[in-house]
Amino acid sequence: MKSAISEATTQRLSLLLRGLKALEAEGLTTASSALLAERFSLNSAQIRKDLAHFGEFGVRGVGYRVADLRSKLQALMGLSTPRTVVIVGAGNLGLALADSRNFNNESFKVAALFDVDGRKIGSRSKTGVPIRAVSELPQALSAMGATIGALAVPPDAVREMALTLAAGGVKGLLNFAAAPLAPIPGVVVKNVDMALFLEGLTFQLASASS
Ligand code: NAD
Repeated sequence: MKSAISEATTQRLSLLLRGLKALEAEGLTTASSALLAERFSLNSAQIRKDLAHFGEFGVRGVGYRVADLRSKLQALMGLSTPRTVVIVGAGNLGLALADSRNFNNESFKVAALFDVDGRKIGSRSKTGVPIRAVSELPQALSAMGATIGALAVPPDAVREMALTLAAGGVKGLLNFAAAPLAPIPGVVVKNVDMALFLEGLTFQLASASS
């Protein structure tokens, strides 16, 4: 059933999960779809429709039980236990990702950065993530149990590093280089190019002013 769920739906479920965590932190035990929609800029009908893909979550007259829905959503999204992530490329982007709470948090733990630059190897990011040699990747991956890899290397190094990560058991890849990564059997690849969003924005601005 989950394979039929669209990218847009999974993104909305991620936003809903963030909202539920925020409400839980505030001590709220129940919430209606209307409250969730208002607080987190979502659409209440859409919330009900998205959740209906997975079963019946609401309680009549009560709404959603916040902790219960948060825990069920986490399980559905494969986030019940923290995922170990490695980042290849300890440059501007790789270091920023490793030190960001949005990327390195209770759900995704960045275990290490890997680089080829001898001046970086052996040091740490600002928050203490170790920078290790790429040559150590194969052994390190199995020792760390990493299932997700982020590629923050120059475009010409992407394919080789992706194959190394895949051979070491990584099942999901986020490729940040501006060179789309062709599919790798048995691995889910997501190409992330922020420049595309910028260009989408300028396209809309240009359309609006013409
Ligand atoms: P950077 O030059 O600061 O860092 C690149 C790092 O990769 C360096 O530390 C270098 O030593 C290392 N490296 C090179 N070859 C390697 C290899 N084979 N294995 C491991 N490490 C290797 O560059 P940056 O600004 O951090 O950008 C990194 C990548 O991310 C580039 O491809 C860039 O185009 C891309 N980028 C993407 C976005 C986005 O929106 N997706 C935004 C910024 C940068």
